Amino acid sequence: MNAAATTTHTNCLRCGRALRNPTPAGYGPKCRAKVRRSSVDTSDYKPHQITSARELIEDAAIIPLRNTVFIAVSTDGTETYKTAPTACSCPAGLKGSRCYHQLAARLLLAA
Ligand SMILES: [Zn+2]
Ligand SMILES: [Zn+2]
Repeated sequence: MNAAATTTHTNCLRCGRALRNPTPAGYGPKCRAKVRRSSVDTSDYKPHQITSARELIEDAAIIPLRNTVFIAVSTDGTETYKTAPTACSCPAGLKGSRCYHQLAARLLLAA
């Protein structure tokens, strides 16, 4: 399933408002700026994980499901994972590792 990566979003992924210009990027201009500025304690993460988390958000490859749960699309677009700030259903997350999906979820919740 690759819907999240290819869909043109008509509503902002952060605030849910209708987007004036439907875009695969998924955020209105204000929310996009907020999401970009969002910061959390990343000391537990390696630099490449922080980069991956930012890219996941930029690509609108992590979308809200409910409350603090998100759906994240795998790098190759073939799988989706359920991601929360402290848990994730990806292979790394299932082993109890802090994957970058969790970091992306934390960044979005802090935005
Ligand atoms: Zn918005
Ligand atoms: Zn994960």
